[in-house]
Amino acid sequence: MIIRARIVATMDGPPIDNGAVAVSEDRIVDVGKFAEIKTHKTDKVVDLGEQALLPGLINAHCHLDYTCLRAKIPPQKSFTDWIRSINAEKAKLAPKDYVASINEGLAEAKRFGTTAIANLTAFPELISQVQPPIRTWWFAELIDIRAPERTNELIDSAIEALKQTPRWGLAPHALFTASKDLFRRCEEIAQREHILLTTHLAESREEMEMFRDASGPLYEFIKSIGRAMADCGNETPLGLFLDLIDSGRSPNRPRTIEVNRPYLSWIVAHLNELTESDFEILERSNSKFHVVHCPRSHNYFGHSPFAFDRLRSFGLNICLGTDSLASNESLSLFAEMRAFQKNFPRVSPEEIFRMVTVNPARALRQQNALGQIRTGFGADLIAVPCSGSTDIFEQILACDAPVSWSMVNGNT
Ligand SMILES: [Zn+2]
Repeated sequence: MIIRARIVATMDGPPIDNGAVAVSEDRIVDVGKFAEIKTHKTDKVVDLGEQALLPGLINAHCHLDYTCLRAKIPPQKSFTDWIRSINAEKAKLAPKDYVASINEGLAEAKRFGTTAIANLTAFPELISQVQPPIRTWWFAELIDIRAPERTNELIDSAIEALKQTPRWGLAPHALFTASKDLFRRCEEIAQREHILLTTHLAESREEMEMFRDASGPLYEFIKSIGRAMADCGNETPLGLFLDLIDSGRSPNRPRTIEVNRPYLSWIVAHLNELTESDFEILERSNSKFHVVHCPRSHNYFGHSPFAFDRLRSFGLNICLGTDSLASNESLSLFAEMRAFQKNFPRVSPEEIFRMVTVNPARALRQQNALGQIRTGFGADLIAVPCSGSTDIFEQILACDAPVSWSMVNGNT
């Protein structure tokens, strides 16, 4: 099959005018000018006309469990109040509501051009009831704050459910809800089984206050649940996190990484609240990880400005995500790119587009398979309207309707 379009933005070199992509089964087998590609023997040519053909978008952080909470929680006075509100909403939901929510979320993500998604679920046991229409990495969101004596059991049963899916990882929820032991075990499993890990880190001012100062609303709330608070009052969230993931390694190994594995397993969501000493540690550290910024969720909570320029200059791989609809309006990564552009008008539209294609592909260890239109890559493609007049990447960011055409793993 050959797909022809007005322009093909491959993200592997400059966009190709009057371009085409040849697809065989689930793979891209050639890409170039239509005049060259049409020499391939094929029984099917799809002409998308005045449209731009793009790699499918990749959402690096979301929680489809909560798609049904759209518009249910207005912005709260504090992050802690928001946690209380979402807990109250969750108490009204049954397993069938979560399955419906996940299905609805996957369909919406696909409508807006997302072809791959990193989805955290608090209910790995429900995964077998879902047939995702897009490539889905399932991360079991793990919280042991209420039962730290059952951490092993929690991880084991999550893994049993996850292993029935082709792509999975583990997500200790956050430093304030997952024990040190839980983080360390996840790190050990990741080293052994080469799986991905993700967590929420340094998201709110209240998390910073809790760990650095042993005070504030989150500190009081979490303490009231019964968590041991001895780790509070010394280190920042980032400092604690780096200590934790390092101690999962052999004790003699320095805080550096092998040259052939330049990135850790961790996809870290947020990283909004950092001190000057945190920035120094990040700059010096050889342990690079992936960072997911969620621009609209960030605006909803009113977090401190995201330090995009500094984090990028330290070599961190920055991706975009939608987070859940308990703090966002839709699962459109186009809207996410526009929100980012509003806050960072000096960043080029092309670089912003990389944050939903090339960069998250790398975070998911798919840099040789997804995120670009290249020979040998998976056939995940989308089309959006374009005209010849303005910058193609500017036009991509402006797209606010569902995509007109998409292909996931060679299927339209
Ligand atoms: Zn999240």
